[in-house]
Amino acid sequence: MFVFGLWAPAWEWTVAYAGTTPKRALVTASTLNVRSGPGTNHPLVGKLTEGADVTITGRSGEWFRVAGSGGVSGWVDGKYLTARLDGVRVVVDPGHGGHDGGAYANGLVEREVNLDIARYLREILRARGAEVRMTRETWAKNPPHYSSNPNDPTTRTGMANRWPADMLLSVHNNSSPNTTARGFLTIWGNAPQSRELAQVIHDRVLYWTAMRQGFDHKSFGRGVYRDTEIRGTTLAITNRSKVPATIIEVAFLTNRDDAALLKNDTFLRVAAKGIADGAGAFILQRVPEGDLMSGGQNAGGDGGHGGYDGSTRRDNADRRPFYDLMGPLAAEVVQAYEAGLVAGYGDGTFRPQNAVSRAELVAMLVRAVEKGRGQVPAPVKLPVFFEDVSKGQWFAESVYKAARAGYIRGYPDGTFRPTHSIRREEVAAVLRQVLGLADAPEPFKDVPDKNIFAGCIGAVRKAGLMIGYAKDVFGFGKAISRAEAAAVAFRLYSRIRNGS
Ligand SMILES: [Zn+2]
Repeated sequence: MFVFGLWAPAWEWTVAYAGTTPKRALVTASTLNVRSGPGTNHPLVGKLTEGADVTITGRSGEWFRVAGSGGVSGWVDGKYLTARLDGVRVVVDPGHGGHDGGAYANGLVEREVNLDIARYLREILRARGAEVRMTRETWAKNPPHYSSNPNDPTTRTGMANRWPADMLLSVHNNSSPNTTARGFLTIWGNAPQSRELAQVIHDRVLYWTAMRQGFDHKSFGRGVYRDTEIRGTTLAITNRSKVPATIIEVAFLTNRDDAALLKNDTFLRVAAKGIADGAGAFILQRVPEGDLMSGGQNAGGDGGHGGYDGSTRRDNADRRPFYDLMGPLAAEVVQAYEAGLVAGYGDGTFRPQNAVSRAELVAMLVRAVEKGRGQVPAPVKLPVFFEDVSKGQWFAESVYKAARAGYIRGYPDGTFRPTHSIRREEVAAVLRQVLGLADAPEPFKDVPDKNIFAGCIGAVRKAGLMIGYAKDVFGFGKAISRAEAAAVAFRLYSRIRNGS
């Protein structure tokens, strides 16, 4: 039961704090389908597993485009994501405290159960990057709900308002004279977005407690544990808070079955996880619609003007050797693979958006020249030695061939830095060397005036090897991705084979 003060009307809602927009999310489904577009009608391009930490690269409605660390990228249903909470501020209020025990029933004291769940919640939120403040840390003493000053830090709502927090989560358990009443409940009030917050927490807690595969539903009463309702009330926490706030009533102490759940530590942790996922789902809604990438494969890449029609793209997708491959460069990456210029990883991925390393790039270009021309030109002038490239390494032969042919140089300190990424303009310089192209003017707005790479960039554009992200955007200063590098290697190979 709640022992809250009633809300006095005539409240001014002025929340200026905007909070941070999440850049990363976690997968909450055991397996999550990754699709080539935002909807279940799009082809499957991969799978992510629970706990996968992904970068958010775009949004279309409730679908999010994500890139996983394993190279899996594409669109996923946002229902199965929760935002990482880096920089997000959460006030967790374990309801009641001290002489106010809340409800007592079936050998349980609400004050204690609330604190147990709140502690688990705090740990999960912190593990996901959130800053968490608890209104109480022990069984004793909880500050008042509010005072005449809405920012009074000695009150629970004032703590959240003054910080200001991104949300205020008040953890409770329910009671009723009717001992058959049971189930989960979230409550919203007049606090801004408190209904939205309550709704997503409601959905996520139920997902974990009642619907989740792999959970022992039998012992936790599946089919019964869904007496659920969301309703607005006039309670202090949800009305006095100026930040999004919800009261979460996990279960009924007064119901024998619910009480058995509340004595089960696993259930308390699972409920806390559901609340944390809901908090993250709420923050995920801050992600704006549209493309969140500044460049790269899906924003156009080098294939933006490839002129593929839909059928060509489908044909290529059907014989796609890597399940994480998509976007405008996919067709050329496949061709590069079929020509033996590039390879993927052992797990079936190509990791198209990963930065290519200097060693990988050189290997691709040397293969393109050798397969196109029959051999790399004879060594020129001086022998070359890099102290960080030794015989046993897979890329050593390519690196030395390329260096002796004058395609690419090492650093003045005698290193090649094979694992470093390489910028797009540097690749342009390498390509110009490979083909002996003449400098040419370039039309890109992002290439600085009189830059030493400008002539190389113009040369490779004229040769059709690198055409930029858009008509006037080269992607200057950006590390070249594996997909972009593969496309470039294939274009080089084609050009050499065609004798141009
Ligand atoms: Zn309570």
